[in-house]
Amino acid sequence: MSEPLILLEAASRTYRSGALDVEALRSTTVSVERGDYVALTGPSGSGKSTLLHLLGCLDRPTAGRYVLDGRDVSRLSDAELAAVRNRTIGFVFQRFHLLRDETAARNVELPLIYSGLSRADRQRRSLLALEEVGLSARANHRPGQLSGGEQQRVALARALVKEPRLLLADEPTGNLDSTAGGSVLSLIDTWNRTGVTVILNTHDAGVAAHARRRWSIKDGVLSEGAA
Ligand code: ADP
Ligand code: MG
Repeated sequence: MSEPLILLEAASRTYRSGALDVEALRSTTVSVERGDYVALTGPSGSGKSTLLHLLGCLDRPTAGRYVLDGRDVSRLSDAELAAVRNRTIGFVFQRFHLLRDETAARNVELPLIYSGLSRADRQRRSLLALEEVGLSARANHRPGQLSGGEQQRVALARALVKEPRLLLADEPTGNLDSTAGGSVLSLIDTWNRTGVTVILNTHDAGVAAHARRRWSIKDGVLSEGAA
């Protein structure tokens, strides 16, 4: 068997704020194969974002190990983590996180700035990514001129423009109506079919049903299978 894309070994994350420690993720051991599709559900405050941020190299485990694509990333510096993210991971946030003063095309182009591509190549890749999410006609619009669903599709194009192996999405449909959410989800499904490993957080059982595997989390304890 090939090595998994993701391997957590007794990984935990404790937030220390003053005298109070919050064990947001308790000792967790789990692996994810390449090409898999996982939906993570759980009540608010259960640790979903904490786990996704760990998996996305936006954070590190307090204890235990995270091996991503064969490399232990648990103790990397911020700069090293950023390099891993840049190479391997696309991240989509519930609230889009687009730069509001930049056009859609420019938002999608930004992750390519350090790629060594020429300006013209970056612009071409950005427009192709926008085409893939059905937004060619909106390339020169700023986020404020786009609907929520369109903004999230721009965020998807930005996450995918570098062709990452892993797509992590933190409640990607959480702020969208069902039509807009459906189109975001069908793009994610399509990418997964082309081999991108997907892990998403959701409150919505209908969204979770798209995944092959379901995790639920409660009080920082992860279990396999729907809650
Ligand atoms: P979810 O995404 O499931 O709503 P989170 O992972 O955001 O949950 O939070 C899990 C727990 O960790 C919550 O009790 C939350 O208050 C706490 N928490 C999250 N981030 C921090 C932080 N930066 N500092 C302290 N506590 C935090
Ligand atoms: Mg959250």
